[in-house]
Amino acid sequence: MKVAIIGAGLTGLSAALNLKEFAKVKVFEGENVGGLAASYCKNYCIEKFYHHCFRQDAELLKLIKELKLSNKLVWRIARVGYAVDSKIYPLNTPFEILRFPYLSLYDKLKLAMFTIKSRKRDYVLEDNKGVVDGIKEELGEKLLNNFFMPLLKSKFGENYKEVSYAWLLARVSIRSNRKHGGEELGYLRHGFHQLIEKMGEDVDVNRGEIKLEKLEKFGRFLLKGEEFDAVIYTAPIPELDEKLRSALNLPNIKYQSSVCALIGLKDKITDIYWTNVKDELVFGALIEHTNFMPLEDYGEHLAYLASYSTPEGWLFNKSEDELKKLYMKDAKRFGVDEKNIKWIKIFKAKYSGPIFEKGYTKKITDYRTPVKGFYIAGMTSKPNYPERSMNGSIKAGREVAEVLKSDFGLI
Ligand SMILES: Cc1cc2nc3c(=O)[nH]c(=O)nc-3n(C[C@H](O)[C@H](O)[C@H](O)COP(=O)(O)OP(=O)(O)OC[C@H]3O[C@@H](n4cnc5c(N)ncnc54)[C@H](O)[C@@H]3O)c2cc1C
Repeated sequence: MKVAIIGAGLTGLSAALNLKEFAKVKVFEGENVGGLAASYCKNYCIEKFYHHCFRQDAELLKLIKELKLSNKLVWRIARVGYAVDSKIYPLNTPFEILRFPYLSLYDKLKLAMFTIKSRKRDYVLEDNKGVVDGIKEELGEKLLNNFFMPLLKSKFGENYKEVSYAWLLARVSIRSNRKHGGEELGYLRHGFHQLIEKMGEDVDVNRGEIKLEKLEKFGRFLLKGEEFDAVIYTAPIPELDEKLRSALNLPNIKYQSSVCALIGLKDKITDIYWTNVKDELVFGALIEHTNFMPLEDYGEHLAYLASYSTPEGWLFNKSEDELKKLYMKDAKRFGVDEKNIKWIKIFKAKYSGPIFEKGYTKKITDYRTPVKGFYIAGMTSKPNYPERSMNGSIKAGREVAEVLKSDFGLI
């Protein structure tokens, strides 16, 4: 049996790994192996978009072990901060949190209780409620305006109003793995590209975009002149032709885009790994990778200036030069002057994740489609709700492979 997989992101590679002993598998990749988790490499490799993992990422951690990369997995307390009027407030220890001047003690206690409670909540029940209403009802206007609103804006741009409260609850729950002194995050020392390379070993990856225009009528699929018995589509849904989407009964899912400036620096900007920015700047977060991983692994300081947009949004559609100017102008607010910058790279992803709108749970895609032998998996699959992640995509890839094996009697 021959299976074509469209997209060599983590979903596609995971599906290929789980199928290769049962079928002849070919993966088609239009851009970068690794997709959104791909790296930029010079004398070292660094993810184009900041990446870390969590203790709860069971599927990812299992794969890291199976691929004999456990010795590379490190857990670090990642210091976080919050920038207001260009001043950065560290928010890690109880003392730092108490000192933060923009929330009252009462609001801080409410926030702490909310975080603790979120671990036990069935967030799906809140899927039809908007995030703004949910926060207002449960936590009040002050916490909404002085704490959550900037985070929501930086994560979803203007689309934040459409996001469901369920997303926030789940996100807070994931992020509540705190130790005294901060949050513990994981990373594969020297980069996640090592995982992607190991996953890609022994998998037949064909570089070349696949434009699916029509579906094969006879239960066979012809791709690039080659016949396949089954197809697993892991690329973004909007890339499918509209007619095809309706034939496959796929929902209309809105995506957000990512724009990120990665900068190499002579000196660090702060002592913090992740700073959320309340001010209306072009970036919503400043992420200093070399405050998380050792500087000696890179030989220079590395920082991301991260923004979210939409495929139609003004930011996503600016040229690279214009973006560099915009990012540099706003980075000056944190004391980053040109003399400190060694280089700057702009990375963009048009479809970087679904916008988890109200009622999104009904839009989560099944692996099977109405067309026998044609499967969909990836960021719109169940394991990637309510937070798309490396773990979710690896799980979606494994699960779609299981479904296909069962349909074709391979197990
Ligand atoms: C800014 C940012 C930060 C993130 N940070 C984290 C993090 O810290 N921790 C975490 O766990 N996750 C993080 N993620 C999420 C994680 O990277 C993704 O969830 C995961 O990599 C998605 O994998 P995927 O295979 O489902 O999709 P994708 O990576 O989108 O893979 C789809 C692949 O299909 C290819 N493709 C598209 N169209 C075609 C076509 N027509 N023909 C052939 N190939 C095609 C694409 O080039 C791509 O390689 C982050 C994502 C972003 C954008």
